[in-house]
Formats: sequence, structure tokens, C-alpha cells
Amino acid sequence: MVEVKLENIVKTFGETVALKGINLHVKDGELFTLLGPSGCGKSTTLRIIAGLDFADSGHLYFDDDDVTYKSSSERGAVLVFQNYALWPHMTVYDNVAYGLKVKKLPKQEIDRKVKWALELVKLQGYEDRYPTQLSGGQQQRVAIARALVVEPKLLLLDEPLSNLDAKLRLEMRSEIRRIQRELGITVIYVTHDQEEAMAISDRIAVMNIGQIEQVGTPKEIYEQPKTEFVASFMGKTNVIPAEVVERDGDKVTVRFEGFKLDGLTYTGENDKVVVVIRPERISLHPIENAVSITGKVDLIEYYGFFIEVVGLFGEMRIISRTINDRDVIGLRPQGDVTFYIEREDILVLPKTL
Ligand code: ATP
Repeated sequence: MVEVKLENIVKTFGETVALKGINLHVKDGELFTLLGPSGCGKSTTLRIIAGLDFADSGHLYFDDDDVTYKSSSERGAVLVFQNYALWPHMTVYDNVAYGLKVKKLPKQEIDRKVKWALELVKLQGYEDRYPTQLSGGQQQRVAIARALVVEPKLLLLDEPLSNLDAKLRLEMRSEIRRIQRELGITVIYVTHDQEEAMAISDRIAVMNIGQIEQVGTPKEIYEQPKTEFVASFMGKTNVIPAEVVERDGDKVTVRFEGFKLDGLTYTGENDKVVVVIRPERISLHPIENAVSITGKVDLIEYYGFFIEVVGLFGEMRIISRTINDRDVIGLRPQGDVTFYIEREDILVLPKTL
């Protein structure tokens, strides 16, 4: 187990500045996720931590050890690639045993460790199969067993589930969490899938164009996004461009499309803002002391365990979500609808995108 610190890590590829000064502190035994859209620098960060690439400037520490210029093998971190990179001509056993054979461990010890790793990923009985005789999920398990068998200080996973179908993805994500908890190992996990990040992580760093936008627990990132980018990246949410038209201390009134919302908290200087409202925080029933806006029903969509009512407020579409199908009785497309929102469920952030 190890804690990992990145201090002002910069990395360029020719003209492209892939990382613009990354600062991170991943704690001992934590499952920490780098989350962000394609090209934001997640894989580059992971490769630098693994020692497969080196930073142009900045420092990387494993505990108090400055590993910035140390080779991959000196670091004790193992990276599992998206495509698993199993050796096709080797059996499951030999794939997993490989790293131990390289270390020239006695045969008996290799045998014991391989057995342990395959048990951990629930692949006992598959020792003699070749990778082509395994499902995608099983190949992924072999790749994880092969990484864990050398007892790394740090496990790095780069989009480990992206080649699996939706059901297997869910299964393997719980498996990875179980294994991480069982071993208490530090894991840094890369994904562009916000739901996956929310489900699996102790903490998440949201990245955008070579920078960290926010670090926090899944709950903090979801409920208290600090930037417009984080708010709009974390799932289906309403991010409404608006303008501050009145201020009284840290309370403001904002306007969008002729609607005014008063008594909201905002301390930023910029009057161009976004109003962030989660669909599930919008009620179709009156709430005392809440703000309300009346518009037209644009769409009513049934998703099974919840229903979305999309309202049209001027040109602005706002999504509300309810789990109670009685809430939509009496609503019809183009008919009137009023959304009620408690002020504490409305975030006002500077417009930055
Ligand atoms: P994805 O989710 O698509 O893998 P990512 O967030 O992992 O994306 P990176 O692969 O880290 O992003 O890439 C960050 C930036 O650096 C991108 O603009 C990419 O084009 C660039 N880049 C990465 N590796 C190289 C390389 N070897 N040569 C040139 N540019 C590179």
C-alpha cells in the first residue's frame, strides 16, 4: 500500500500540452478515479504514475520516496491496460505466473501465488485455457490476477471495463471494488464514464483539458460541483445560462428567458452565470417557500422506475424527474406545468464554458 502525490506535473507532446500542472494526493488504500472526457489527459497521468512515461517537470512521490525519475520496475506499480494485453500463446496459468517466473521465484511459491490470485478473481479451474477460450470478462479477470500476483504497491487500471457489455461491466465493477477492499490496496482508476466513477470510487478527480477541475467524494462531486464543467459532466442535469440582475450580500436574483429566481446564494464576481438544478430535485407539487417557474410540457418520458417531464420555459428545456407516476396525472404535452425547487437545491456558478 502506498500514498501517491503528484506535484505540478506538466507533460507536453510536441505542441500539445497534455498536462498543465497536475496536483493530486491519493491516499493509502483508496480507490481513486481520474474521470474526464476523451483527450483530457487521464491516460497520460496514469502512464506517468506507472513510469511508462516521464513528466517534463514536477514531482511524483510514492509515500516519501521521490520516484519522478525512477524506472517502472523500481516503483512497484502495475498498470492494467484497456485491451488486457494477455499473451495469446500462453495459458491462463502461464499468463499469471509470468511476472513471478521473471523474478525467478521457486516453483512452489509461484504455484501458491498463482492459485491465490486466480481464487481472488474467481477463476479457479481455468488454469489450462488460452485467452481466446475465455469471455471478455474472464480475460479481464486474468489481466487483474496477473497484475495482483506480484503484490504491487499500487494498481493502475485504464478504462478496464470499456470492452465489456453492459451487464458484465456492472459485474466486474463490483468485483474490482471487492478485490480492492479485500486487499486494502491503493488503486488509481481511469474512466470517462461518470456513473462508473460514482459507483466505484472513494474519491474522484474530474479532469478537463489537462487540468483537474475538482477532487471530492462521489457525493461531493455530484451534489456540490464547483465549476460549470463538473456540473454538466456529471450526468443528466440542468445547466441553465443566466444573468445576475440583483445582489444583496451573498444573495442574488438571476434571470433567464424572462424568468426570475431570487434569494439564491452566489459570491462570484461574474454576472454571467449558470444555474444548476438536478432533475430529481424539481418537484411537480407546490413546496412552501420554494421558487417556482411555469411553462409548457414539452415531453413526458417513461423510463420504467422513473419518469421525466421536460418543461419548456421560453426557449429553455428543463428536465424534472419523479419516481411517482401519480405526479404526471393531468399533465399533457403543450399543457401548462409548474416546477417547484427549493432554493438550497439550486446552485449558481460562474459561466466558464
Ligand atoms: P482517452 O479517454 O481518449 O484515452 P485521455 O483522457 O486518456 O483520453 P490522453 O490519452 O492522456 O487523454 O491524451 C491527452 C492529450 O495528449 C490528447 O490531446 C492526446 O492527443 C495527447 N497525447 C497523448 N499521448 C500522445 C503521444 N504519444 N503523442 C502525441 N500526443 C499525445
